[in-house]
Amino acid sequence: MNNMRKIAFGYSTKCNIKCEHCVAADGAASDATMEIGKARAIIEEMACCNVKGISFTAGEPFLFFNDILNLVRLCHKHGIYSRMVTNGFWAKTRAHSDHAVAELKAEGLSQLRISFSRWHQKNIRRENIVNAAASCQQYGLDYFISFVTDFSEADDACEQFLRDNRLTFFPEPLLYFGRAERFSRSRILTDYQPNTCSMNPYLSPEFDMFACCDAGNRFTHTNFFFLGNLAEHDVAGLFVKNETHILYTLIRNMGLTSMASFLGFKARDIVKYRKCELCEMLFNSKENLSKLEKSATSDLASWKR
Ligand code: SF4
Ligand code: SF4
Repeated sequence: MNNMRKIAFGYSTKCNIKCEHCVAADGAASDATMEIGKARAIIEEMACCNVKGISFTAGEPFLFFNDILNLVRLCHKHGIYSRMVTNGFWAKTRAHSDHAVAELKAEGLSQLRISFSRWHQKNIRRENIVNAAASCQQYGLDYFISFVTDFSEADDACEQFLRDNRLTFFPEPLLYFGRAERFSRSRILTDYQPNTCSMNPYLSPEFDMFACCDAGNRFTHTNFFFLGNLAEHDVAGLFVKNETHILYTLIRNMGLTSMASFLGFKARDIVKYRKCELCEMLFNSKENLSKLEKSATSDLASWKR
């Protein structure tokens, strides 16, 4: 299981804008930031325990450009694939974006992931996104645009803009966590799909490690995804915990649908949930979690077709 460890690395939760849909925020502003020496030490430790991919995320990493450059250089030295997730505020002109992208490429960044949505673009000009992508193309830096969408018609103009500018993008479903929790949402009907999840772990600026980078500390009734703090545990130990936790393993392999069915959820209800909503129903409920924990190695494990 540990042959391709990767992690979302939250150097800082500080951001320069305040998107209405931000999953990383729940109203209370947080500017927690790592100390660069400590961040370097953790990446050294990660390199020693087979971490092969680090995604710099959380708030806006470009606010700490020199620090992240330093960490990207360290990743490159250890052969770690590095990604930076950004809102693109820095790409005001081609000259600005060329300068930043050339530096990132020179230090060995593997990929730039540029966020785009109708909520981001209330704060950041759309042209910034085009500039950032064009600079990546010019300097040979792999990029993609993460197009966050609720799949409503309100996003048609955004998608058309990406297509008109021939930008490489992938739609990312809006997550109804953080500030987006209060958004109204349309009901959906999915197929009766397994709802497996690969579960990318996340390290916060406070050195808390979580098994899921999207929900992380969101499941507050159970704290289900919390693995531990690096003040008390080493990196390798928390990765092993993540990889051997029986319910995480079932999320990855069996999927949430079978677990919901095992608990007695009706099939016609299961198909109405988005994946992360179903996950929350199962694991942010003390009662459901307790039932799943008790049966994880017995009845639940054999609940399959
Ligand atoms: S979604 Fe990203 S860019 Fe927007 S406020 Fe949150 S961290 Fe900042
Ligand atoms: S399905 Fe669960 S584990 Fe996967 S991203 Fe959503 S909340 Fe996290």
